[in-house]
Amino acid sequence: MISSRIAGFHNLSRAGRLEKLVELGLLSEREAAELALEAGPLAELADNLSENVIGAVAVPLGVATNLTVDGQDVLVAMATEESSVIAAVSNGARACRELGGVFTEADDPCMIAQVQITGLADLAAAKAQVESLAGEIGKLCDACDPMLVKLGGGFRDLEVRICGPFLVVHLIVDVRDAMGANAVNTMAEALAPKLEGWTGGKVGLRILSNLADRRLVRARAVWRAEEIGADMVRGIVSAYEFAAHDPYRAATHNKGIMNGISAVALATGNDTRALEAGAHAFAATKGNAGGYGPLSRYGMTEDGDLWGEIELPMAVGIVGGATRAHPTAQKALKIMGITRGERLGRITAAVGLIQNFSALRALAGEGIQRGHMGLHARNVAIVAGAKGADIERIAKLMIERLEIREDVARALLDEG
Ligand code: NAD
Repeated sequence: MISSRIAGFHNLSRAGRLEKLVELGLLSEREAAELALEAGPLAELADNLSENVIGAVAVPLGVATNLTVDGQDVLVAMATEESSVIAAVSNGARACRELGGVFTEADDPCMIAQVQITGLADLAAAKAQVESLAGEIGKLCDACDPMLVKLGGGFRDLEVRICGPFLVVHLIVDVRDAMGANAVNTMAEALAPKLEGWTGGKVGLRILSNLADRRLVRARAVWRAEEIGADMVRGIVSAYEFAAHDPYRAATHNKGIMNGISAVALATGNDTRALEAGAHAFAATKGNAGGYGPLSRYGMTEDGDLWGEIELPMAVGIVGGATRAHPTAQKALKIMGITRGERLGRITAAVGLIQNFSALRALAGEGIQRGHMGLHARNVAIVAGAKGADIERIAKLMIERLEIREDVARALLDEG
């Protein structure tokens, strides 16, 4: 039995922490050395981004081809460990290229910060009072971030809501090229004492909302029936309707969308959890019965082609967080030719739509397992101990036999 109480673990160097894990018998010397090596030159950065760091996990970084967004081609950097995700975007983007690819619309990049006020006897009176102070509140917010204001961003709007026994003040702030969490949290915290003074209440939480529904991006594409087949058009529309009627299906439908979105976010140093939280909260009312539903919709055009569209909150940035600090994120943005946060948001939404289209195309057709099989079989072969040329050989044999399992891979390896 080990004790998880390790006094001063955070004060140790990376090497010291690894040594400690060896001392505790959790790692061998060799494994500790491998972890240090695997982190490579990113180890120091990792140490500055997070706490108690002992290494870094490398996730494959790939480039999706064929995508056109708003008339401009883009090679999309995506980081994901899941097979078929990048291939799906490349294939789905090729299938709508002829009709111009994906077309998008984006709201201004406005985030919402929430300040919770407790202990108020007359909520309606306090609401009216705070609303009357919008001008002053705006000035106080802008004073927190002159840099943002200089760049054309800053306070935009005030919204005051009564939520149960609380008054909740929303600060709507244009955060320009930033994801904006830190920027708006700073404003919410700075405003708190003023709000207490004005209302006589007590401020509770002061933090952004990840339901960034003032910062929506919409993306739309059309796939020709000639290209994908008339049956497939009907199949995808039916798959969408299934998701619209059933939250169990909608969760998986949206997971497919986030396969693409989170991969772009991870590659560019963005906060994948913030995007996931925003997307699912936004989806919570999109079902046919008003509950959880799909973030994208599909239908048939007058010509019998397939149209698809997606709408979701898009809190991504190109400054702040890990985006500037992480050298891989910088290179990912460079590959994509991104100089503005808004363009990244549009491309990310487009990737979500295309990813979703390809998943539905596979599901409405031959199922996803066939497409997954090649990489999955290689993965299974590696787990079974295959190395070098054996990986491909064993994977092929398993696919031929339609038996992709570790025990089968081991048996094939033993046969030589
Ligand atoms: P940040 O504060 O590091 O950068 C934003 C600041 O950069 C702005 O306030 C502005 O002063 C400056 N800036 C310079 N050039 C700019 C430009 N062109 N456009 C906009 N601002 C510019 O980062 P952030 O984006 O405010 O916060 C993002 C980080 O916050 C992420 O790492 C995220 O993980 C983290 N975070 C998230 C949550 C959450 O989602 N619930 C909560 C807390 C923190």
